[in-house]
Amino acid sequence: MNLHDTEKVENLLHHAGWRPAHALDTADLLLINTCSIREKAAHRLASDLGALAAWRAAAAGRVLGVGGCVAQQEGDALLRRFPHLDFVFGTHNLRLVPELAEAARSGARRAETAESRSLERFDLPERHPEFAGHTPGRAWLTVMEGCDLFCSFCIVPLTRGREVSRPAAAILAEARAHVARGACELTLLGQTVNAYGRHALRRDAAAEAGTLPFAALLGELARIPGVRLRYTSPHPIFFDEALVRAHAELAPLQPHVHLPLQSGSDRVLARMRRRYDAAGYLGLVERLRAARPDLALSTDLIVGFPGETRADFEETLRLVREAGFADSYSFKYSPRPRTRAAAFPDPVAPEEAQARLEELQTLQRELTLAYHRRRVGETTEVLVEGPSRRADPAGGASRQLSGRDPYHRVVNFRAATGAVAPGDRAQVRLVEATPHSLIGELWRVQRPPGAADERGQPIGPG
Ligand code: SAH
Ligand code: SF4
Repeated sequence: MNLHDTEKVENLLHHAGWRPAHALDTADLLLINTCSIREKAAHRLASDLGALAAWRAAAAGRVLGVGGCVAQQEGDALLRRFPHLDFVFGTHNLRLVPELAEAARSGARRAETAESRSLERFDLPERHPEFAGHTPGRAWLTVMEGCDLFCSFCIVPLTRGREVSRPAAAILAEARAHVARGACELTLLGQTVNAYGRHALRRDAAAEAGTLPFAALLGELARIPGVRLRYTSPHPIFFDEALVRAHAELAPLQPHVHLPLQSGSDRVLARMRRRYDAAGYLGLVERLRAARPDLALSTDLIVGFPGETRADFEETLRLVREAGFADSYSFKYSPRPRTRAAAFPDPVAPEEAQARLEELQTLQRELTLAYHRRRVGETTEVLVEGPSRRADPAGGASRQLSGRDPYHRVVNFRAATGAVAPGDRAQVRLVEATPHSLIGELWRVQRPPGAADERGQPIGPG
């Protein structure tokens, strides 16, 4: 969501005449988009801003702005604390960035963090022809924002505000525009993405006008020729039968679901106010796998939540094994200001939380490796992202590329220099499994419609 907000701001700035500078010493404007989901992310802002005082002072006319969740929380306190900061913009105020940047050039220091339930924030200009976006071949698409669930550990409802869903017609129009430009994989975004449109069921539905049930929205999007669909992050309680069935019936829906679990202990889940229990979660996993037997699942987990005992943690280990996650993102609990759990009186000792995190991550590495090993020998399709992050000792006339397959696994493979570009779809035979990624051999490559080269040209293995 944050990366996509950054794209939205970049696009707005393109329309206002700004262009990327690529290096600090040639930049006139520098924006930091912040995250406050855990304390560490929020702390980084202070050190980054401290380090930028010299940059701001080194040339006349330089402008420094901060946006995102920390900006939303702190507002003009940031302007008071950092005298070299020119402006602050909240999560509902992206549209004001060009105006704030311009005003800052004439010396104005403003913080705009007003929250609203209005749909206006979604009225953003079409993608500027000179702004390519961050991810060739794929695009993010906001369908809803905000969260009304208030899990006891989570700051998101306080930084992103109440749930608001965009009208389906606007989402479909944006999806068609992306596909026409060559982005065929769309990831629908929302803090609880499958809560999309649910308030239309309430009497006061002004903020939900023109929405559909989430599964029906997927159905409409799936009719766009050439599209592939993903969504993140869903909440387990908003999987109705129609959404489960969509995984059986909609071919463009990719066979991966990121399904945040947080804990495997019913006692902890209740204190987290997650509104499901371990059996309910596993039941959902079964229903999804019945609909789509090859479905890959990933999850989010928190260890060291206040009051979590060794026995609670073992329930998490058990559930992680039972669900057989292909991947998980696990975090040590971090107390967040103004959340209920921050006042819970029974914190877990930091060393204990760290030890649990390591144990959980060791288990996940084993599960991921086992999942990857089961897939060796398959041919899969990789949407190419760019050069691989793996060391590339061979180099020379070929290079290592990396991308994700339909199951959202990272696949690395080697190709002749220039033969494969970001955004291409490469058919790759999986030959080796590692705990973090799969290694494959290139079989053939397909350029997305609209790209310059010939399509579907077989270029042979290796
Ligand atoms: N809406 C999604 C999650 C959004 S936040 C859901 O309901 O699952 C992304 C992830 O950050 C969460 O899934 C959780 O694992 C982690 N997270 C959120 N608040 C946290 C906190 N206070 N401490 C540690 N991890 C946290
Ligand atoms: Fe945070 Fe997700 Fe819970 Fe909403 S549903 S409060 S975003 S963890």
